[in-house]
Amino acid sequence: MSEFRKNPFTGEWTVYAKSRKNRPYEFRWQKAQQKGKKCCPFCPGHEDRTTPALFQDKPGDGWDIRVFPNMFPVVDEENCQIDEEPIYENVDGMGLHEVIVDTPVHEESIEEFTPEHMRKVLGVLRQRYENMRRQDHISYVQIFKNCGPEAGMSIRHSHWQMIGIPVIPTRIFTMQENGIGKECLFCQVFHQEIAEKKRLAGENDTMAALTPYAARYPYELWIVPKAHRASFGELTEQELRDLADMMCRFLPKVAALRENIGYNLCLMDGPKGRDFHWHMQILPRIGGFAGFEHATDCYINTILPETAAEYYRGEKKPFEE
Ligand SMILES: [Zn+2]
Ligand SMILES: [Zn+2]
Repeated sequence: MSEFRKNPFTGEWTVYAKSRKNRPYEFRWQKAQQKGKKCCPFCPGHEDRTTPALFQDKPGDGWDIRVFPNMFPVVDEENCQIDEEPIYENVDGMGLHEVIVDTPVHEESIEEFTPEHMRKVLGVLRQRYENMRRQDHISYVQIFKNCGPEAGMSIRHSHWQMIGIPVIPTRIFTMQENGIGKECLFCQVFHQEIAEKKRLAGENDTMAALTPYAARYPYELWIVPKAHRASFGELTEQELRDLADMMCRFLPKVAALRENIGYNLCLMDGPKGRDFHWHMQILPRIGGFAGFEHATDCYINTILPETAAEYYRGEKKPFEE
């Protein structure tokens, strides 16, 4: 059973997901490496250890990409009764939670993917995204990938998650409100960054990679479409290919920052039915957050975005000032 409750003071939502309590936690990293493929529910040949597939690019155990509902979902597929109380606002946690395994190879990391395979993965993500976004009860779809235990990865075999929820998270709501006025602020900011080049990590025909002006995380990187695209579903074939190329170019650089680095990939969509400027955020987990960040939502970042851009352009070594 799952329930969203709104913080009456900040407007933030917390989701109470009881089924998550029982999920496996495979890490420590070393132990997971030793256990390896034999115990992995995501490896080919172990299809009966997951929920039935929603998609496979090839039948049986010969697949390259496989999608199935998360066995320990954050949200429920069925709606259920929740209690109401005066003053407070809550929403029944009805939604969808899928797992997308993006390689049959247990040890392979996304940084090792070829551009062709990356493009294929993005295509499957988009197909599942479009299916999820069509559901009436879903207001927002978050696609994300946790790389490394420090970034919340609980199973070593490379995979993405996609969660469709019935509410719009405060951060997404705020970004939409601030970003989309008469003109698109994202367009203005991205065009300025591409022209100025100070925080530009690289670009190709349709995509740019930049370190955002007020990045929260050291070496935070955004990959943005140069043209205004309201949602992931609006990216053209050329843009998907260019996005895959940018990921293949920059993810190895993120991984090279530190051994066993954790990072998150987040596909930033807008609230359903409202304009937005879709983009991908890459969030390396260096340093970690403490009391100040949790208390204030004001982040302490030791690396200036301009310095991070120099690293991504190959002009500086990791952590060089
Ligand atoms: Zn595996
Ligand atoms: Zn725009």
